[in-house]
Amino acid sequence: MERRKFIAGGLVGAAALTAASCGKREEEKKQAPAVQTDAGKKIEWRMATTWPKNFPGLGTGANQLAKYISEMSGGRLEVSVFGGGEIVPALETFDAVAQGTAQMGHGAAYYWKGKSPATQFFAAVPFGLSAQEMNAWIYYGGGQKLWDELYAEHNLKPFLAGNTGVQMGGWFNREVNSLDDMKGLIMRMPGLGGDVLSAVGATPKLLPGGEIFTALESGAIDATEWVGPYNDLAFGFYKIAKFYYYPGWHEPGTALESFVNKSAYDDLPADLQQVVAAACQAANMDMLSEFTARNGEALATLTGEHNVQLKRFPDDVLRAFKSTAEEVVGDVAAGDAASRKVYDAFAAFREKVSGWTNLSETSYALARDL
Ligand code: CA
Repeated sequence: MERRKFIAGGLVGAAALTAASCGKREEEKKQAPAVQTDAGKKIEWRMATTWPKNFPGLGTGANQLAKYISEMSGGRLEVSVFGGGEIVPALETFDAVAQGTAQMGHGAAYYWKGKSPATQFFAAVPFGLSAQEMNAWIYYGGGQKLWDELYAEHNLKPFLAGNTGVQMGGWFNREVNSLDDMKGLIMRMPGLGGDVLSAVGATPKLLPGGEIFTALESGAIDATEWVGPYNDLAFGFYKIAKFYYYPGWHEPGTALESFVNKSAYDDLPADLQQVVAAACQAANMDMLSEFTARNGEALATLTGEHNVQLKRFPDDVLRAFKSTAEEVVGDVAAGDAASRKVYDAFAAFREKVSGWTNLSETSYALARDL
């Protein structure tokens, strides 16, 4: 019922956007007669994803996005979802969509740092933007334009399509009381956060989700991060590690993305382009809302039923992570022109928005718990 209303709202929103740009489009039609609305024509797209099919939160978020597009377009644009490995291996999704093997992809931008290190700024940066701030940067702070430019080089058009919110710091079998306790620790952590671990004397390991439990159980790794209570409860990490650390300094609001083959997107009639954009925005909000709700429930289960001990990283450890992160991220920015440009914009936005966040969200959250 609620979802029906929401989708109806999305349709009205898409219609309003279409109406608002109608005058402009009349002019565009004269210049570009190839782009026309053909209400009878059915278009079928394939969405390749980096997730196992139906993976909670992330894979189901991709399913939801496809459903929104199919329903909001009244069936004119049907999107079929494929899990990682079904069309192409998960980490080849970017290339598959760029080349048109699939028309859409769903993943996280830091998987593509081999294509361009600057992509990492559109997923998660240690001590970077929260989910709300990331949305603000992309939608209202100039982030989308930079992202469009970066992905256009690969024949892709990117959209925000989900967010996990702030993640947890990870599962440990021993307490972290000082930075010395991190030295020599083998911990599963991908991306820039892993580079930070390495710089403070730990050994980061990149393991796919399905291998983490066994690695932790066998002692091949000493600690692991994954996502947050909802996903971590499902993986059963509490059976092996009792200390659950916060905050997730390394992934403060990981953005998930959808990217569309740019030629396929440009070929869509303008109203279907708006449907895709509005569906991504709806999916973005939907995933963050689901994670927020389910994390709260799962956290209560972890502490109430499984006796998990919540621990906050000590301030001096967090300070060390932060100063190291600035160096690690600074090195990425110094590596190439695109990274420099995106990082400078990202850092300037973080500087401006963080003061407001401290005064509003952070201050309120602390006041609520007085
Ligand atoms: Ca993670």
